[in-house]
Amino acid sequence: MDLLEYQGKELFRKHGLAVSEGAVANDVEEAVAAGQRLGFPVVVKAQVLTGGRGKAGGVKIAADPQQLRHHAETILALEIRGHKVRRLWIERASEIASEYYAAVLLDRSARAPLVMFSSEGGIDIEEVARAHPEKLARRHVSYLTGLTREEAVEIARAGQSAEDVVEGVAQALCRLYAVFKEEDATLAEINPLIVTPQRQVRALDAKVTLDDNARFRHPDHEPYANLDLIDPLERRAKEEGVQYVQLDGDIGILGNGAGLVMSTLDVVAQVGGRPANFLDAGGGANAEKIRQATELILSNPAVKAVLFNIFGGITRCDEVAKGLIEAFSALKPALPFVVRLDGTRAAEGRELLAEANLPGVHPAAGMEEAARLAVELAAARR
Ligand code: GDP
Ligand code: MN
Repeated sequence: MDLLEYQGKELFRKHGLAVSEGAVANDVEEAVAAGQRLGFPVVVKAQVLTGGRGKAGGVKIAADPQQLRHHAETILALEIRGHKVRRLWIERASEIASEYYAAVLLDRSARAPLVMFSSEGGIDIEEVARAHPEKLARRHVSYLTGLTREEAVEIARAGQSAEDVVEGVAQALCRLYAVFKEEDATLAEINPLIVTPQRQVRALDAKVTLDDNARFRHPDHEPYANLDLIDPLERRAKEEGVQYVQLDGDIGILGNGAGLVMSTLDVVAQVGGRPANFLDAGGGANAEKIRQATELILSNPAVKAVLFNIFGGITRCDEVAKGLIEAFSALKPALPFVVRLDGTRAAEGRELLAEANLPGVHPAAGMEEAARLAVELAAARR
């Protein structure tokens, strides 16, 4: 899961990385109160799960309470790359001598953490990597030894840190590595990592992605789930443990396994339809999961037809059929369902569906045939 800037900074602080003092504000009054407590000037920062806030007008410096009120009002009315701003972070403004870049991320192809550092920070780092690759230092780190101080110093020098802050940068890199390792992150990025005129090194921004597979080890991360900021349907899906992504078409899709769902979306698009969602019921989904998933699809009012594409491996098609039958008796959907069952216990699953004789359920043998039928049925209801 992705963290908001202030949540990332909370983890930074916990591991000894220097960050500015600040406070969360949910409305203008809270923002003004926070500014008065912190002392001016302060920075008003939109807390949204996307980058490029500065360019979009989501980061402003306020010299006094009037300016703070004005900026807070303006920023709370913004939508940045499709994300409505609902929360602000107010922090004591920093003086900046230089803006550096630092990151630790999981490099899956190398099966090792990758530490990156550049003295050309603050801006788009992809651009630095493209135009001046020599200014972006990249080093893999062994999980066994971690990032040593000596390695961190080398990386700081390779990324052209000013000599007088090499130690400070190296320390920041080691602490950022600790955040990455101890908190089970897949990404911990600071852009900019600033050097102040007093030559202190401090994280001015934070971008942290935590590994969801390690979530059970970190009950203290639960408040970071930002459930109030995500789509209500996606949130319900998360709570029920299914992968759901809202799309803007009218064909509800359910499959088992992310790969199968992705290809189902492609096939639907290929035959001229538009998927309403991505929904992966997961490997080994039982009847209960299928019922929950059906409910999720049906709560999207844009859906005109539903396509079930199941290729049973661990998932048993008879379980899927049972789930669908349960869902029908509970929800009595008025929509057409095209159901393709193949793989483990497909014959049993099809037989169950035939016996149940659910209104509006159309069996289909292949993926393309199923997609065509779903697209036709949806079109007939437009
Ligand atoms: P982003 O645009 O989403 O990456 O948001 P950042 O937190 O990185 O802020 C964008 C830019 O605003 C930074 O690169 C800084 O140049 C500037 N900025 C942020 N905080 C401060 C601050 O405390 N003082 C000053 N002078 N500039 C700041
Ligand atoms: Mn930034």
